[in-house]
Amino acid sequence: MATSETQGAKGKTVVRNIGLLLSGDLDRPILDDDTIIAVDGRIVAFGKPGDVDAEGADTVIDARGTTVCPGLIDSHVHPVFGDWTPRQNQLGWIDSTLNGGVTTMISAGEVHLPGRPKDIVGLKALAITAQRAFENFKPGGVKILAGAPILEKGMVESDFKELAESGVKLLGEIGLGSVRAGAEARQMVAWARRYGIQSTIHTGGPSIPGSGLIDKDTVLEADADVIGHINGGHTALPQQQVCELCERSSRAIEIVHNGNEKVGITAARAAKDLRCLHRVILGTDGPAGSGVQPLGILRMVALLSSLADIPAEQVFCFATGNTARVRGLDCGLIQIGRAMDLVFMDRAQHTAGKTLLESVALGDIPGVGMVIIDGIVRCQRSRNTPPAAEIPAILKGGH
Ligand SMILES: [Zn+2]
Repeated sequence: MATSETQGAKGKTVVRNIGLLLSGDLDRPILDDDTIIAVDGRIVAFGKPGDVDAEGADTVIDARGTTVCPGLIDSHVHPVFGDWTPRQNQLGWIDSTLNGGVTTMISAGEVHLPGRPKDIVGLKALAITAQRAFENFKPGGVKILAGAPILEKGMVESDFKELAESGVKLLGEIGLGSVRAGAEARQMVAWARRYGIQSTIHTGGPSIPGSGLIDKDTVLEADADVIGHINGGHTALPQQQVCELCERSSRAIEIVHNGNEKVGITAARAAKDLRCLHRVILGTDGPAGSGVQPLGILRMVALLSSLADIPAEQVFCFATGNTARVRGLDCGLIQIGRAMDLVFMDRAQHTAGKTLLESVALGDIPGVGMVIIDGIVRCQRSRNTPPAAEIPAILKGGH
């Protein structure tokens, strides 16, 4: 089931006969190309067959006219260790999510670790251990950016410097620990930023008994890089406050599956009206009280496309290029030099939509036919999505 390989494909990978190529780039979400070439897991060319050198490939994939999109990125998960979540006591949740087209996940804190340390040396040790553990072990090949410490009172600037020097690049969502006041959070966010550590803040009511409310004024004062689950996790702020956050902050607007769906739609519409859709990124916030959502990102794409009236090809960018840019990742876009992380999709069998994009705009989730990470085929026909009408074929290699 899981694999510990950390290297990408060796040699040349060619994907050809792509029916529709989604770029991940909101400024140009559809590309007029049908072939992608990678060497050692990195995209080196894409174009029409006559424009690229497809000779001498080690792996050849015939997309068979399906839609290819950069691998989906879940901007908000709570991993612990390996492919196990103690929150719902499930094994294999990351591999299941790979079957939902997700190739990268970003930790918003390893908060579910039984006995999670809350003293400062302990929380730093946990973050460094989680960062190392997921760097060394990628369940199903999925890249997990973990090691996201939960801020506690008493942390000082040198703690952030030490974390950064130890390889920590993220903070867990602010508000899950004892730091909940705006001014205190703002100071720690600034220290983190000084050392290149990105920050996210919990937005909305308490997630479980024992956690607290983070309201609009606290979010604005803290000024974290990402307005974490702007639609609540689970309980949302009043819609007016959510719209105000979109308008008054310039930070990333993260909409999650485990939040309030109505307010998620409101936030996406607000971003559209404010012409700042490039700030919108998607997450699941799983595992959580609501569980694990292997198809959570695809469900968010279908939800926002169908009910916030945003074209499907643009919503796919929220879960790919937007997140890659906000998070500084080397994937998420069909661009030379980026990781060849791809999800192959087609309209689900018997959807009312005539094309994949039309089916998503009608609110149906697509069928996943293959997922590639760093040039390696990690899954073929998804065991979790509805069956795709057409799926790609491996003509040569693949591993
Ligand atoms: Zn949260």
